[in-house]
Amino acid sequence: MSMNIQKSPFRTIEHRVDLCVVGGGMTGLCAAVAAARRGASVVLMQDRPALGGNASSEIGVHIIGADRIGSVPYARETGILEELRLKNLVRNPQANLSMWDLVVYDTVRHTPGLELLLNCSCLDATMDGPVLRTVTGWQLSTQTWHVVHAKIFADCSGDAILAPLTGAEHRMGREAAAEYGESFAPDASDPRTMGMSYIFYTREHDKPMPFVPFDWARKFKSCDDLPWGQGDHARWAVSPWWAEMGGEHHAIHDSELLRDELFKFNLGLWDHIKNGSCVHRERAQNWAIEKVQFVPGRRESRRYVGAHVLSQREVEAGGLFPDVVCHGGWTLDDHHPAGADSFSKHQQPPTIHHPAPSPYGIPYRALYSKNIENLMFAGRVASCTHVAMSSTRVMGTCSVMGQALGTAAALACRHGLMPHGVSDRIGELQQQLLADDVFLPGVMLDVGEATRHARLEASQGDPEPIRDGCQRPVSSDPFVWMHKSAFSKADEADLAAYDQHSWSAAPGDHVAYHFDKPTRVEQVTLLLDSNLERSVALKAPGVQEAFPENLPKQFRIEVRQGSAWEPVAVITGNTQRQVRVPVNQTTNGVRFVLEETHGGASSQIYGIIPR
Ligand SMILES: Cc1cc2nc3c(=O)[nH]c(=O)nc-3n(C[C@H](O)[C@H](O)[C@H](O)COP(=O)(O)OP(=O)(O)OC[C@H]3O[C@@H](n4cnc5c(N)ncnc54)[C@H](O)[C@@H]3O)c2cc1C
Repeated sequence: MSMNIQKSPFRTIEHRVDLCVVGGGMTGLCAAVAAARRGASVVLMQDRPALGGNASSEIGVHIIGADRIGSVPYARETGILEELRLKNLVRNPQANLSMWDLVVYDTVRHTPGLELLLNCSCLDATMDGPVLRTVTGWQLSTQTWHVVHAKIFADCSGDAILAPLTGAEHRMGREAAAEYGESFAPDASDPRTMGMSYIFYTREHDKPMPFVPFDWARKFKSCDDLPWGQGDHARWAVSPWWAEMGGEHHAIHDSELLRDELFKFNLGLWDHIKNGSCVHRERAQNWAIEKVQFVPGRRESRRYVGAHVLSQREVEAGGLFPDVVCHGGWTLDDHHPAGADSFSKHQQPPTIHHPAPSPYGIPYRALYSKNIENLMFAGRVASCTHVAMSSTRVMGTCSVMGQALGTAAALACRHGLMPHGVSDRIGELQQQLLADDVFLPGVMLDVGEATRHARLEASQGDPEPIRDGCQRPVSSDPFVWMHKSAFSKADEADLAAYDQHSWSAAPGDHVAYHFDKPTRVEQVTLLLDSNLERSVALKAPGVQEAFPENLPKQFRIEVRQGSAWEPVAVITGNTQRQVRVPVNQTTNGVRFVLEETHGGASSQIYGIIPR
């Protein structure tokens, strides 16, 4: 079905671009930015006023991923997400969710080649056989129809809005165990999903704050009426993740009904804490509700069927795909469809953290449609089984999936290919992703002939790792994390299992490439130490990590002319892990001199690549 907007009294604006991304959550915005930076013209259509999806202040979920909230060292996602997180640490030490929205908006809105359509809801599409031609969105703020013609479309809407509009193969619910040989799947397939939540925040005041209960809210007579007994409502600054419902309903069609049910649950929970027989009641005296989110946080609805469907067994085996384009590493965190009522209705916990390795690889073939030629997707709609998606759905993983999608789409457009055609250029795609600081387990950056063959010399230590193509410490045994409990911290033995792949420098140290003949260098790309061994995430309102103390703050890039070193750039106030320094010279050598860190005594330098 296609709407006839010609008869509409409202104006229409037509856009013609390489890539149209629907959905501006972490997945979609990383896809759009990556594609635009790689030269594609892009429209990003987002139905709400803010970017970030579930990570925006409208919902307020914090981004987690392969490092399991700082438990798995060196596993965190880099690339665009790392850039945003480091910007956030600089601009938002107060850990305010609206400031995070602004940090994201600043980057997306000011990316050249990217047109941002906020408040614009995609609701129609036109097809030409198996090819998607246009997508139409309604922008309420300007009362305008936006019709986007694109070579490639990407659905990052979280709900796969383009599936019903295009006839793309998709499914909703849980696969039967036998379909993909999944031990955590049910015996028979069913339409059940993980549920949704409406998050609320509370704040401590300097005097007692009464809470007058709503008579329509639920009543919890004792702590034991709640899923985890006294345990998991001992902290209430943010409503608990298990205050969740809807997996036994239709994840999309029953959304409004579920809001009402979740409000009844949440406010009943708060009444229990504030006024009931709750063991925490005394401590909660001065606490009051600060914000109730009216935008739903959805965990799961439709998932596309792509050229490959990622399954539990592949995740468990480490995802050793030849077409790996990003990594995951969260547990297989499969929430019970009954959510907060899982104990009372089914005597089962609201979630089980089934073990998974960190990292594991995710294949490119899970990011494009099986039957619609120019349709790609990423995020929680990617082509995964329900069980695999219970891990890939976290937003660190979604962000790098989005970056992989955007990079692939730009590559496809440049070569006049459909998404499946990029499978024949997978090496090129992987090298572009590595060059943009996306981690691909088992794939090394090609540093180029001149860099590989140059003579390397440093003021101290062995500098070879700066050109070994591996841009972070990696463990010889990623499966160690399958055998540990979900969030156990790394111990000495775990850390010893990591090869550092870095040159350790202190302020004053230098490292230099000497070329055996004059060599043209356009730029030097640096991969620096942003303390990957610990978290830099915005964890909750007001809870912010310290800025990475080992990150180089001030350094020089010099080139050798004859026997003299001449500075081409003195970088001051650096706050990023990946830094590209333009050189544009023919030279006999390139030198990096570390002048100052953000407080750390030394810094691990992962890559210095002149090209
Ligand atoms: C309560 C809750 C707690 C969670 N806890 C965590 C956690 O702690 N950490 C974590 O990393 N993950 C967590 N998750 C999972 C994670 O938030 C989701 O899997 C994630 O949001 C998926 O990202 P996405 O980009 O695919 O979708 P989304 O974040 O939902 O982004 C999709 C975007 O598309 C937009 N959109 C939708 N339809 C349209 C349309 N028709 N037109 C235009 N735009 C559209 C939406 O407005 C949204 O901005 C949680 C989820 C929930 C619900």
